[in-house]
Amino acid sequence: MGIRRPGGATGLPILGLPRPMLAVFAVVVLGAAALLVGGATTLPPDGTTGTALLGALGLIALGVVHTEAATGIERVRRGVADSSYFDLSSVWTFAGALLVPPALAGVVVLGVYGHLWWRVWRPAGAPLYRHVYTTATVVLAAFTAAALVAPDQIAAAAGAGRGSMLAGYGWLLVAMVVYVLVNQVLVAVALALSSGRRFAWRGLLGDGDDHVLEGATLCLAVLAALAAVRQPALVLLVLPPLLLLHRAVLIRQLEERANTDAKTGLLTAAAWRGRAHRALARARRQRGAVAVLILDLDHFKSVNDGYGHLAGDEVLSAVAGALSAQVRDADPAGRFGGEEFVVLLTGLPEGAQGLELAHAAAERIRRTVRELVVQVEAPVGPLTITDLSVSVGVALSGLDGDVLDELMQVADYALYAAKRAGRNRVRLGRAEADPGAEA
Ligand code: GH3
Ligand code: MG
Ligand code: MG
Repeated sequence: MGIRRPGGATGLPILGLPRPMLAVFAVVVLGAAALLVGGATTLPPDGTTGTALLGALGLIALGVVHTEAATGIERVRRGVADSSYFDLSSVWTFAGALLVPPALAGVVVLGVYGHLWWRVWRPAGAPLYRHVYTTATVVLAAFTAAALVAPDQIAAAAGAGRGSMLAGYGWLLVAMVVYVLVNQVLVAVALALSSGRRFAWRGLLGDGDDHVLEGATLCLAVLAALAAVRQPALVLLVLPPLLLLHRAVLIRQLEERANTDAKTGLLTAAAWRGRAHRALARARRQRGAVAVLILDLDHFKSVNDGYGHLAGDEVLSAVAGALSAQVRDADPAGRFGGEEFVVLLTGLPEGAQGLELAHAAAERIRRTVRELVVQVEAPVGPLTITDLSVSVGVALSGLDGDVLDELMQVADYALYAAKRAGRNRVRLGRAEADPGAEA
């Protein structure tokens, strides 16, 4: 599956895991091993097993070629994102589940995941137990799917058997659902147990983009399996689109990276403007209002001068965290430049009532920054930075303007009015902005 795993050597060694997780680990890993061994003893010692074994080895070989070809793209990806290798090897493991008997489908998983461990996870310093658990979950998923779907049904779906093609498609769908469910549930259980949080069914839903990728990967697996029934060499045609999928992950993460300010994790100024334009247009259609907040830290130069630029950067990042925590996810927050931030509050009513709500939000942010305690590891030892403050200018759509640039200008004037009035305060719209201050 396209499961993004937290990478690096930060994982705890297995003995540090909570007891329930250790129990689940043992059950899943021993269960997968027992099924593999049990399944292997039921394989008929005839030609069909020989052919299936060749098929399984072929899939492992393709998995190895895939991983080797993908590591180049993945190296670029790791340069732009922290998350580790994006695993799309279910193309081969799910194709194995469709094509060969359960025990051999498990062997495909062992082969592909063994190679992945050697080439990707081990060099990345990932803890072995985690990989063992993932491998066991995929073995269980592939085994279950393979046990449910008989080779006749796949042949029928490929139009090469006697059965109904439609029924064949139905079985393909069943196999896909079972494969995904077994995998996702076992991974979600592990995440819930090792983080000590409650198991959440909603967690299974994950992120929409990930599902598109997983869906695409499984579709390629189905195509590979159907092609293999007709003409095994055709399976090679799956490799190029698979590598393109790896690039799709790369593009998505480059996009995210381009829109994110590296120092604070907030939106970049350009990305913020894009989101703000769209939110403003939506507010106009829905007869609501949005508020623009421009914030500038007070006397920030003295933080830099007193504690150094690195400490200043820590403060910026702490302020950004406080800012994000005080606004809803739907309200974009960005770093405008230096130590200036912008927030767009959406879904406000028009007029005085909207302005009042925006004022309350701005005040909340101002107070939060005021109470901020930032711990910094400096060369001279740990430092605690307090007494920060921020000045805020607010502008409300409708009252202060109808286009973004106009609102930004009013908010900026209001910000300067706040600075002139002594800092650590909020100033609202045209009424309190003081364009004369510029002069
Ligand atoms: P005030 O806004 O209250 O008038 O005073 P100020 O000292 O904050 O003045 P101003 O906003 O003009 O100063 C901006 C300072 O922010 C100057 C610059 O050294 C610092 N700064 C800008 N960007 C960064 C950054 O990315 N990291 C750090 N550490 N400092 C930055
Ligand atoms: Mg400042
Ligand atoms: Mg400034």
